[in-house]
Amino acid sequence: MTETRLFVRDGLFAVAVPCGGGLTFLAVVWPRSVFAKVRQDIDGAYHRAAARVPWLADRLVGARQAERYVGTADLDAFFRTASGPGWALLGDSGHHKDPITAQGMTDALLDAELLARAILQGLGGTRSLDDALTDFCRQRDSRAGPMHELTAGFARLQSPPPEQLAGMAVAAGDPVATTRFLGVIAGSVPVEEVYGPPDADAMDPAA
Ligand SMILES: Cc1cc2nc3c(=O)[nH]c(=O)nc-3n(C[C@H](O)[C@H](O)[C@H](O)COP(=O)(O)OP(=O)(O)OC[C@H]3O[C@@H](n4cnc5c(N)ncnc54)[C@H](O)[C@@H]3O)c2cc1C
Repeated sequence: MTETRLFVRDGLFAVAVPCGGGLTFLAVVWPRSVFAKVRQDIDGAYHRAAARVPWLADRLVGARQAERYVGTADLDAFFRTASGPGWALLGDSGHHKDPITAQGMTDALLDAELLARAILQGLGGTRSLDDALTDFCRQRDSRAGPMHELTAGFARLQSPPPEQLAGMAVAAGDPVATTRFLGVIAGSVPVEEVYGPPDADAMDPAA
């Protein structure tokens, strides 16, 4: 395969990513509720899932499996308060989400950059460390919160409502709209620009 493709079906998400050397990474995501069932027959579940996506099924004909299957259901989602007096959480320790939007490494690095800046300010004497850490938490929330909520929505693996589905079908044939969607995933386009304002309660650690 030479192009990355994402597929959304009711109760199923799949992504095919070319890795070079003729190899393709193919991830299949099911709801956690079927984890035990999938585990009993991973190969069967994988091929049944691919059969629901003709583009994938066609390309699996004659393909050779290069690696063993790897999977997990240990994918809790939480959005914790990121700092307090003298302490801070960054990356997965502060906010963990389903990998469906592939944000975790970006988040960990961006959190690290924000936190490093706060610590430099706090220890460098330009402001108190507690103030700087409070600011880190606020900036982390506003940067990562909207994507966290969007990820939780995607991870439900439910078909989008018909009007959203119609919008996606139009977007799939429109290079500008496709680039904007991919920009959201890459972090270059704010989530709100494409999906509207976030639900404040969804990110409130106390909610
Ligand atoms: C199936 C799956 C697919 C994913 N796909 C993607 C993707 O495509 N793109 C993406 O960006 N992200 C993806 N992620 C998420 C990404 O891997 C994580 O979000 C990211 O690694 C988090 O980085 P981190 O530094 O916060 O934590 P970690 O990478 O977990 O690093 C924490 C480190 O701290 C160490 N540690 C823990 N406790 C202690 C201790 N007491 N003392 C010393 N060391 C300790 C751990 O051993 C670990 O090495 C995926 C995750 C999963 C599960």
